[in-house]
Amino acid sequence: MNEMHYQLDLLTAMNQKLMGNEKMFRMICGTSSNAFLYYIFSEDRFETLGLWQHYFDFPIRSASDLHKLINCAKTEYISSLEEALFCENKHKESQIVECEMQDKKWLEFEVTITYSETEEPSEKIIRIRDVTKRKKQTEELKYMAYYDSLTGLYNRNYFVRMLSEWVRKAQTEKATIDVLCIRMDDFKRINDSMGMIAGDEILQAFGLFLRDLQSEDIIVSHFNDDIYYLAIYNPYGNHNVDTVYNQICQRTGQPFQMMGNIEQKITVSIGVANYPESARNSLEIINCAEIVQSQKKESGTNSIAYFEAPILTDFIENIQMENKLKEAIEDHAFELYYQPQYDAGSKKLRGVEALIRWRGQDGKFVSPAVFIPLAEKDGLIVQIGNWVLEEGIRVYADWYRKYEYPMVLSLNISALQYKKADFVHHLLMLIEKYQVDPSLIELEITESVLIEDFNSVVDKLNTLKEYGIKISLDDFGTGFSSLSYLKGLPIDTLKIDKSFIDTVINDHPTRVITESIIAMVKKLGCETVAEGVETQEQYDYLKAVNCDNIQGFLLGKPMPAEGIEKILSSIKN
Ligand code: C2E
Ligand code: CA
Ligand code: CA
Repeated sequence: MNEMHYQLDLLTAMNQKLMGNEKMFRMICGTSSNAFLYYIFSEDRFETLGLWQHYFDFPIRSASDLHKLINCAKTEYISSLEEALFCENKHKESQIVECEMQDKKWLEFEVTITYSETEEPSEKIIRIRDVTKRKKQTEELKYMAYYDSLTGLYNRNYFVRMLSEWVRKAQTEKATIDVLCIRMDDFKRINDSMGMIAGDEILQAFGLFLRDLQSEDIIVSHFNDDIYYLAIYNPYGNHNVDTVYNQICQRTGQPFQMMGNIEQKITVSIGVANYPESARNSLEIINCAEIVQSQKKESGTNSIAYFEAPILTDFIENIQMENKLKEAIEDHAFELYYQPQYDAGSKKLRGVEALIRWRGQDGKFVSPAVFIPLAEKDGLIVQIGNWVLEEGIRVYADWYRKYEYPMVLSLNISALQYKKADFVHHLLMLIEKYQVDPSLIELEITESVLIEDFNSVVDKLNTLKEYGIKISLDDFGTGFSSLSYLKGLPIDTLKIDKSFIDTVINDHPTRVITESIIAMVKKLGCETVAEGVETQEQYDYLKAVNCDNIQGFLLGKPMPAEGIEKILSSIKN
């Protein structure tokens, strides 16, 4: 009897414990955001728990019902889900699969099986969790890691990674790879004139076209701004650059349609490097293509250039010179020379042109014709030019104080200096600081200043003229010089380029042109200066055809300030 009581108490206690456990289990299931399936093998019975109704609108009662659940998954996930849900592997850890469902939700299924002491499966718990949000975030991160958000093309990181893989593959397959650095010409101008949104639009439109060129052997990437890269894998030594280049030419032959029915045509400049000829690792190949691209000579023609070894040597030499130039700026290693200009008729000193000199470490001069274009390319010209302005005006003021001789000081101004917003202000500040007469300061500009934005340049020239500063058009006769645009330009002086003077004696057409230029410039009320006059014959001829002023080795080479001082003091005496 006691024994029976004892057994009954034990059973009641166990039952209460079980009920307590189940209550707790149901509470946990109910409060989580998951759905659960609880399966008892011996009874082939499923129970749905947690937020089951939130996830599915059908019940699951037995193993045969599981197909309803499986069929909710997208086809490509059906087999892995089936395998997980029917799995009975002994002592296996919980199994987890992630599936995309027909309704585009991502669900995670975690299947856990418990076993009896005889190692028979006894229960199965399937936890179902909505992981759509996490999945989307991961996809987004993956997208951001590989793609450029503006164009949807691969980004630089992915391109480098793929190219590295291709290089490894090409090594074993004896294949070659061409890498094209493609840059849209004049993108800055499009962006500035049409606005940033239109700029983005054209980058996207061109990117979309390039994306269509993608294939198993071609990858395209948008690096930044107006720069795209394209790599072509050429199996068996094929060469496919021409095909791609022709497609680009064909497409850019047609305008791109933009918002507001605007049509925009573009051209590109392409630099091509090759594995294994140009370089053997991905980053170096990319660099080589970029170097070739950056050397492009002209815009507007869909230019294409191929990497050759000397390009790299030139590039390195330029970089070395650039570094030396930076040191020279810091060390104040520049000097100013001055070349006199004389009135052709009276031979009276008209003025001087300031010409920069840079003495290299070996004591020899490096020609400004070499380092000025380089300084213009990398922007150092602004600092150099500011030094020239101040040094020239300072020395000139000193001469004026000593000799009171009202001659002109001509200063060469580069396009980039001129573009700086504070250029006029800076110049006026120097004129004020050194107390010089602005009407004796003459700025020499070349056509490159005018080419980019004629109207805004003319506005600036007019402002300078309001302050009395004189403007001279340098190197006339080279480049695109056209007499017709002269009338729209507020210039005071025109310098006939040395290339005319060189041939003027023996070449009849040159004489005709020179004489017309002089006659017309006079009619416009401007002065002429002939540059590079080396012989008496040239001088006599120029004087006879009414050229106003002469500058050249015949009358005086560029010289240090002391040389000009000697001339000034001889005039005074
Ligand atoms: P440029 O402005 O056309 O200067 C005239 C050049 O012709 C000077 O060369 C001068 O020395 C040279 N020259 C003058 N007369 C004769 C002659 O009779 N025969 C020969 N063979 N040459 C003559 P330089 O000083 O070597 O300057 C070369 C160019 O460098 C200049 O051409 C100018 O474009 C640029 N440059 C020089 N100094 C400056 C500067 O301070 N700023 C800027 N932006 N450019 C400068
Ligand atoms: Ca000049
Ligand atoms: Ca010149």
